[in-house]
Amino acid sequence: MATSTRTGKKLAEYRAKRDFRRTPEPSGRERRKPPPAGGGRRFVVQRHRARRLHYDLRLEMDGVLVSWAVPKGPTLDPKTRRLAVRVEDHPLSYYDFEGVIPEGYGKGDVIVWDWGTWEPADGADPTEALQQGDLHFDLRGQKLKGRFVLVRRDKPDGQDDWLLLHKHDDDAEPGWDPEEHPESVKTGRTNDELQGVS
Ligand code: MN
Repeated sequence: MATSTRTGKKLAEYRAKRDFRRTPEPSGRERRKPPPAGGGRRFVVQRHRARRLHYDLRLEMDGVLVSWAVPKGPTLDPKTRRLAVRVEDHPLSYYDFEGVIPEGYGKGDVIVWDWGTWEPADGADPTEALQQGDLHFDLRGQKLKGRFVLVRRDKPDGQDDWLLLHKHDDDAEPGWDPEEHPESVKTGRTNDELQGVS
């Protein structure tokens, strides 16, 4: 099928980095479908305590989760811009993944820090906006709400660096800190508690 071949090509980097005999992460070849998003495109933010703590923001687009690693995490504070490094696309089945990744790529623990749906702002074509490096979108999560912007920076070092920010709107909250809201929206557990039961 044309669609799955195209998705497979997008996931080649994701699969090349991982040994699925060792990691509990999904390969994207599972038959199981991620839980319904209640209509609309899914987004998830995972809190990932790898070698360095970061938050992974993933937006469902064209059959995959387009992904950015945000070292300091997303915020509702409209005065704060956060570095967001574009990373390889992830399979849709990563949407509800929580677990402990053993020795190897991404070693550390992952919880579903927030999830919900997203929509491109003003009816824009998100694939085109992504290519242009300027994506405006609304999140409807349990923690993250309102209008966000991802804008690509010039990148002399070859890294795919973007900035993530929240617009001034009714959902903006000055001083909002993701680390003050550390629990999983899927299980209520923290990264520490996940380690404890694994
Ligand atoms: Mn990560």
